[in-house]
Amino acid sequence: MTQVLPEAYLDYSDILIKPKIGINLNSRKDVNLQRIFKFKHGQIRTGLGVFNANMATVGNFDVAKKLLAKGMFATLHKHYSVEEIGRFLEQCRNENISFDNLFVTIGLKNTDEEIQKLKEMESKYNWKSSRNICIDAPNFYIPKALNVLAKIRQEFPDSVIMAGNIASGDICLKLLDYADIIKCGIGSGSACLTRKQTGCGTPMVSLILECADIAHSVNGHICADGGIVDVGDICKAFCLNADFVMAGGMFAGTDEAAGERTEKHFETNEIVDGKHVIQTKYFKQYYGMSSEYANNKFAGGMCDYKTSEGRELLIPYTGALDKVLQDITGGIASCCTYIGAASIKHMSKCATIIQVNNQLNRIFEKYSV
Ligand code: 5GP
Repeated sequence: MTQVLPEAYLDYSDILIKPKIGINLNSRKDVNLQRIFKFKHGQIRTGLGVFNANMATVGNFDVAKKLLAKGMFATLHKHYSVEEIGRFLEQCRNENISFDNLFVTIGLKNTDEEIQKLKEMESKYNWKSSRNICIDAPNFYIPKALNVLAKIRQEFPDSVIMAGNIASGDICLKLLDYADIIKCGIGSGSACLTRKQTGCGTPMVSLILECADIAHSVNGHICADGGIVDVGDICKAFCLNADFVMAGGMFAGTDEAAGERTEKHFETNEIVDGKHVIQTKYFKQYYGMSSEYANNKFAGGMCDYKTSEGRELLIPYTGALDKVLQDITGGIASCCTYIGAASIKHMSKCATIIQVNNQLNRIFEKYSV
């Protein structure tokens, strides 16, 4: 018999982190934002566990480079050629930017070709097999996904492999036989239509708790992917025990994002010389990787058995990515001082999470300048 589970699943907007007395931390500068990750399949990486999404608009070289330079993690979307990635690695070497935390993405299609591509990167551009691979599929529940993951692990035994997406704890153990990081989140993304089109998805807070518990029991890691609205949500994810957080929309409005910038003109109420003053606002294009737009651009159109599960959006332009990255590091460090956590690793140990009815005071939001 079909059942509705009685307990409500929670999302970021349903909770807050309760400030409390902890260890003596007088300044945000005293917080250690770097973490050492010891992965299940043997590799070690160090950094701040924030990723850009492996989407065409934000999984591009300019965004990736800035995140890597800030000591974060980065992905590249799967549509770059070996030569393009090779040139990027060369650029990073010349600018002294480490790409130890860079993940190259592959999908579930043409696995032999993808393996060939990864090996070519290794032989031509000195991208060692110990580097990092993201195997990305909107739905990692299909049996093929596990087969591809197993094959990639067999071919690249020393790589850090991130695989997903999933939205339940039950599948984590199986995937962690081959993967190091499980990418969790279905339907939470800001450019996502999966919940509307299929009714499927799991709210992020409950999902993180469920998956982290299972993954950590076998030394696996999880990445909370999608649904980050504010920096506070990244803090919440870390407090809930997520090892990594992945965001798309948060980076998509910046100069560095690949979406085209457009301007729109709006008539204001202000009148000068008898005419309404015109205000110009800038926007950037952001689209889901399952949107009709992405299908037309990368897959030669929608096939007749599919529905579009992503949106194409014009979102407000937000300026330099550095500013967003500083908001992220500043916000996380500040959260740590509110709960007495000396490092990101300590956040989940120090945090008390409370369920709330009203998360933010939004009364003057529309008057922001
Ligand atoms: P955001 O940070 O914008 O809320 O979410 C980014 C995440 O949305 C991505 O990392 C990916 O998991 C997910 N995503 C990207 N494109 C699509 C899409 O077209 N459909 C769905 N369902 N999810 C998407």
